[in-house]
Amino acid sequence: QSFQALGLDTRLLKAVETQGYSSPTPVQFRAIPLILKGNDVLGGAQTGTGKTAAFVLPLLQRLARPGGRGSAPRVLILTPTRELAAQVHQSVVDYGANMRLHSTVIFGGVGIGPQIQALRRGIDILVATPGRLLDHVGQGTLDLSRIETLVLDEADRMLDMGFINDIRKVIRELPVKRQNLLFSATYSDDVRKLANSILNNPVAVEV
Ligand code: AMP
Repeated sequence: QSFQALGLDTRLLKAVETQGYSSPTPVQFRAIPLILKGNDVLGGAQTGTGKTAAFVLPLLQRLARPGGRGSAPRVLILTPTRELAAQVHQSVVDYGANMRLHSTVIFGGVGIGPQIQALRRGIDILVATPGRLLDHVGQGTLDLSRIETLVLDEADRMLDMGFINDIRKVIRELPVKRQNLLFSATYSDDVRKLANSILNNPVAVEV
């Protein structure tokens, strides 16, 4: 199977080739066409399965054109830790290398000033941990009203780390009509409850 057959355009196929990926992993094979179509997806996938590319590649394609100067983000990717946020953001940069989209990453433990400046310049894709994201919302430095797709990456770890209330607060800031993707390595009752409350007619992808 090839990436081309999944419906990805030339810019993304080139990026994938640059990364040295010769064929899609199982989670990419199943999730990419669904995400391109706009479906909500419940993804059961561990780290190391290629799950990051499974959602980043189709979301880059759906964004298509940059929003321009000062634009509010249209894709929000929430992760449990700053390390994962940084890693996912690097994937956004790498896979989006042939596109003119703008992205940034926001997490706690570092100065908020540079983050505010990056947001002001205009962002298409935002990768963030929940706590610092809410700080920005509270300060009025982040507008989440243009979000078209929400991704919860490693949802099980986010719940383990006690982020459930933060996640709910973030969701209250988002447009009601949006695409939702939830990835989790494990399914506890709490993860199922979260998935049920967030996803609309999701397609389950298990690998
Ligand atoms: P992830 O599961 O997203 O943490 O990805 C695990 C690793 O797999 C990363 O280092 C990716 O660069 C790599 N990877 C992702 N997709 C592919 C692919 N189709 N072929 C080979 N490696 C890949």
